[in-house]
Amino acid sequence: MKCTKCSQTAVFSRPDYCERHFTEYVEKKVLETVRKHGLVSGKDNVVVAASGGKDSVSCLYILSKHLKNVRALAIDEGIIGYRQHTLAYLKRFCKAHNIPLKIYSAKKELGVSLDNLVKQGQHGCTACGALRRHIMNMKAKELKATKLATGHNLDDEAQAVMMNLLRNNMAVSARLGPITGVKRLQGFVPRIKPLYFCTEKEIAAYAFLKGFEVPFAECPYASSSYRWSVLYGLNELEGKRPGTKKKIIESHLKMQPKLKEGNPGGPNTCKMCGEPCAGKMCKVCSIITSTKKIKLA
Ligand code: SF4
Ligand code: ZN
Repeated sequence: MKCTKCSQTAVFSRPDYCERHFTEYVEKKVLETVRKHGLVSGKDNVVVAASGGKDSVSCLYILSKHLKNVRALAIDEGIIGYRQHTLAYLKRFCKAHNIPLKIYSAKKELGVSLDNLVKQGQHGCTACGALRRHIMNMKAKELKATKLATGHNLDDEAQAVMMNLLRNNMAVSARLGPITGVKRLQGFVPRIKPLYFCTEKEIAAYAFLKGFEVPFAECPYASSSYRWSVLYGLNELEGKRPGTKKKIIESHLKMQPKLKEGNPGGPNTCKMCGEPCAGKMCKVCSIITSTKKIKLA
């Protein structure tokens, strides 16, 4: 199979490109997403939320290659046997590419580790997402970030759309998209997703071709998540009908203005910690409060 742009051997199919044209294609797609969706302006101070996995490392690499003063922050949720490996790689990567990196631990910031929360009955991915979003937002503000970039790709977003649909979580779905939090929730650093239109397969190939030696460690809690089931279902559909995930994203983007109208969301702040949240208490404070109650009982 030949590259459709030159006579070299293709390393990727659909689009059929050689190594050079494929990596250029991915970077161009990311930069077009940034431009077309207004993810970053000249005055923005961009911090990338990185984990050391292929998506966040690729996002960090592409943004720091094309934008000035990009920094990284990472959260150590406290998942023994997993997170230390990805963070060790992230440290090496940032050092090699001269990218300033700050790592914050959930234990130090909030006095909890994910492993302990799971032992006390919390669901791994639910608690993990809450801890991570919470610390990321707090620290992004401290770092004076005006945009917080994440490595979510098209597959992640298609899964999120389907999960919210299946759970009738339309208020959460209304907040999905390449940029969130533009109608400024007080105290919320807007999130941007530069890899929004890149598939998981494309980013995996890009990271491999760029020589990013991301660890293959798998989170011990991943297989028990609802996302895992949705991921399998969507991969099966995608295998039978290629383009399914992209169509889910396109349909979602068409519906999103209506979803936002119907779910305006209130700019509340948590009564315990002051972080932005939808209700009266943020998810992290309610998790910590409920685990304390379990201990006291
Ligand atoms: Fe956190 Fe779940 Fe991802 Fe593990 S799989 S890092 S628990 S969100
Ligand atoms: Zn709170």
